Amino acid sequence: MARPLIADIDLDALRHNYCLARDQAPHSRAVAVIKADAYGHGALACARALEGLAPAFAVACLEEAEVLREGGITAPIVLLEGIFEAVELERVEALGLWMAVHTDWQLEALLAYRPVCPIPVWVKVDSGMHRLGFSPAQAGAVWARLAAAPDRACDLHLMSHFATADALDPGYFRRQLALLDDLALRLEAPTCLANSPATLAWPEAHGAWNRPGVMLYGSDPLEASNELSRRLSPVMTLRSEIIAVRELAAGEPVGYAGRWRAPRPSRIGVVACGYGDGYDRHAVDGTPVLVNGQRTGIAGKVSMDMLTVDLTEIPEADIGSEVVLWGRAANGALLSVDEVGRHCDTISYTLLSGVLPRVPRRYHGPD
Ligand SMILES: *Cc1c(COP(=O)(O)O)cnc(C)c1O
Repeated sequence: MARPLIADIDLDALRHNYCLARDQAPHSRAVAVIKADAYGHGALACARALEGLAPAFAVACLEEAEVLREGGITAPIVLLEGIFEAVELERVEALGLWMAVHTDWQLEALLAYRPVCPIPVWVKVDSGMHRLGFSPAQAGAVWARLAAAPDRACDLHLMSHFATADALDPGYFRRQLALLDDLALRLEAPTCLANSPATLAWPEAHGAWNRPGVMLYGSDPLEASNELSRRLSPVMTLRSEIIAVRELAAGEPVGYAGRWRAPRPSRIGVVACGYGDGYDRHAVDGTPVLVNGQRTGIAGKVSMDMLTVDLTEIPEADIGSEVVLWGRAANGALLSVDEVGRHCDTISYTLLSGVLPRVPRRYHGPD
C-alpha cells in the first residue's frame, strides 16, 4: 500500500470561492492569483478549473506563466512583479503576457523595447506597503511616459497593494485608499488594488480589476471574519492515516526532546505526515487534527516523515484511521487551515504553499 498522505483538491470549491469574489464586486473583474503553484494547489489544474470563469490569471514571474501557457491556458496572465531582467520582454511578448512595471529600470527597458503589439501594463505605485512601486510623486510622470508610448504599452492600469486590509483597525488602510483614490482621479486611471481581504471587506477599494488570492483556496484572511468570508469553502484537504499506535504509561515522553509527556495513561497515534511534507514543525502540542472526523491534538514535536497525536479520547481509532491535518473529514467535520496556522505561529499562506512535491495532489471536480 502506498503512503497514505494525500492533498485532496476540491476544484468545485475553488470555483465556488472564485464566484464569491466575483459576485461581491459586480463592477470589477477578478484576476485569479495562482502564483506559487496556486498557493500549493497546482497552478495548471486550478487555471483549467477556472477557465471560462476567470478572465485573467496572475503569477509572480515569467517561469510560472510559461507553465500555464505550455499547459494550454490562453487567458491573459499578469506578471505581478513584472520582469526581472530586460531580456524577458521577448518572452512576455511571445506569450502574450501582461506585466506590472514597478521601478525605473523596468520602465526604461519597456520604453526601449519594440514589440509588434503593445504590452498591457499595470503601473505599480507604493501607497504605503513600502515594498514595490513608484512613489505617488513619481506616478504622474511614469504614467505620462507610458501613455505617450502607445506602441510599447497599452491598457494602462494603476496598481497598488494594501498592507493592512485584513486588520480590524482600518486607519492605515483608509490612508492608503485615500491616496490611491486621489491619484486615480488625477490620472483618470482604472485601478487594480484589492487583494482577498479588500475584496471581502472593502467594496470601496474594488476597481476595474481585483486580485483575490488566498480566498480562492478557502482561507479566510480577515482578522474578524464577515458574512462573506464565512461562506468560503476549503479547497485542500491534507489527509493521512494512523500507521502505528502506542500505549504509554503516565509520565512517558513522546518524540524528539520528549517535549510532550503523557499526563495520564495515554494512547498515541503515529501519523504519516511530517515537515518533510511541508507540515509546519512549529506546531505546538495541542495543534488540532481530526481523527475519524473527531478533534484531537498533536502530542510531541513534528518529525520529518511523521507526527504523533493523542488518541486517548478516541478509543476506536486504530491503524488505518483517517487523519485530516486541515480541510474536510469523511464525516463532514471541518478543520480550517487558518486555525492550524494560529497554532504554528504562521498563516494559511505558508502552510498551503508549503506542501511539498512529495505529497501527491488528487483532484476532484469540476462536476
Ligand atoms: C499575492 C498577491 C495578491 C493576492 O493576495 P491575497 O492576500 O492572497 O489575496 C494580490 N496582489 C499582489 C501584488 C500579490 O503579490
